[in-house]
Amino acid sequence: MTKVLIACLGTETNTFSPIPTGWASFLEAGLFHGDATAHPPNLFTEPLHVWHRAAEARGFEVVESIAAFAQPAGPTVRPVYEALRDELMDDLKAALPVDMVLVSMHGAMVADGYFDCEGDILARLRETAGPEAAIGAELDLHCSITAAMTDAADALITFKEYPHIDGKERAAELFDLLLGKVEGRTRPAISVHDCRMVGVWPTTREPMTAFVDTLKAAEKQPGILSVSFAHGFPWSDVPDTTAKMVVVTDDDPALGAATARALGAQIWALREQTAPTYLSLADGIDRVAASNASPVIVADVSDNAGGGAPGDSTFVLQAVLERGLTNIAMGLFWDPIAVRFCKEAGEGATFDLRIGGKSGPASGAPVDLTVTVRKVIDDASQSFGTSRMPIGDAAWVEANGLDLVLISVRQQTFDPDAFTQFGIDLAARSAVVVKSSQHFHAGFAPIGSEVLYLGTPGAITPDFANIPFKRVAVPYWPKVADPWAEDR
Ligand SMILES: [Zn+2]
Repeated sequence: MTKVLIACLGTETNTFSPIPTGWASFLEAGLFHGDATAHPPNLFTEPLHVWHRAAEARGFEVVESIAAFAQPAGPTVRPVYEALRDELMDDLKAALPVDMVLVSMHGAMVADGYFDCEGDILARLRETAGPEAAIGAELDLHCSITAAMTDAADALITFKEYPHIDGKERAAELFDLLLGKVEGRTRPAISVHDCRMVGVWPTTREPMTAFVDTLKAAEKQPGILSVSFAHGFPWSDVPDTTAKMVVVTDDDPALGAATARALGAQIWALREQTAPTYLSLADGIDRVAASNASPVIVADVSDNAGGGAPGDSTFVLQAVLERGLTNIAMGLFWDPIAVRFCKEAGEGATFDLRIGGKSGPASGAPVDLTVTVRKVIDDASQSFGTSRMPIGDAAWVEANGLDLVLISVRQQTFDPDAFTQFGIDLAARSAVVVKSSQHFHAGFAPIGSEVLYLGTPGAITPDFANIPFKRVAVPYWPKVADPWAEDR
């Protein structure tokens, strides 16, 4: 009987983040030892649900291994990474022989001693499962594609959409692709083109929406099994951090290389058009001060916990205080100490509180304010699509005419209910400042008069030309105008 092993192991590692990723980070986000599909799916366990159903529908035997995924932060501590990886390997060894191995991974996981966790995992899976097994990974598009990964896997498929709304479809495609090898219909081969670009490419606006259709059209060519645009994760100082085009063919590396190169040329040609524009902090504050419509939605993109930033930076708060602006709601500030003080003081208490700026220099200086605790909620959560995302014990404090939401489980601001559950009336505010890069947009854009993206200081500043990389292997745009110059 065909035997299928499924697993999930990953996180998005911001190598500039001061927050270590250890057991608590994995436990907080959900750590399963073979029973993830008995629980509601999240972005990275959803593929396991798809694969489990697809395998069972064909009468295959399913071996479900670990599912571990942590909120993005700094590198994973070594013993934790090795324990998770070895649990996966032990499950594989116990299940041998295995015909298919499908893993949901992020693609930008770094651990102490391992710049390329996915390459390490895939190489070990291949060594143990053998050359005849069909091995593949579904990856976040914010991934680093490495030679170790492409050497070991039969197929790598990334999300095509940012925000990531297509995880289920990509999971089904990976299953079908690997099944082709198991049934002897295809011999998958991976080709890669390094685009030599560092940036972000939201697919909710043109020309990226159309480019996603271009990728899908390329998959319909004879001999091509899959096409992915791996955007890369800009705040990962590893050799392979640049964007890459990944093409899986039916044993036709020349076709794969030519297709990857042609699609890479297209994304290169679109680089000025696709580069998002950010206001400076000062210009953003001017726009808020001048606005008559309300509320203005202001994205503090550089302190997005979803990109590994701490979520406790104070640059926007400081600027708002210095300008004397009021009637602004701001959040979510990750500050478990401040939340603890608010809980102890109790609702209605007025006292001096130090807020934010605790994680490191990228968070700015702490801000000392006389606050009034308006409301405290234990074990709070916020919406993200149809999911509920935990934010831990949380407090709404008011100070200097500002409404600040403080949380104790680190997370970006996804949804207006992060504020409204406390009783904060966002429609009556002149601005709402959210710590998020892009995922806030679906919930907040409909309630705002306009959306401003601020290129604030912080742990994930979108100043791509000046990220202080030490390890990136190739020249890249926009740091240099022509990253191919030395090759000519
Ligand atoms: Zn992503």
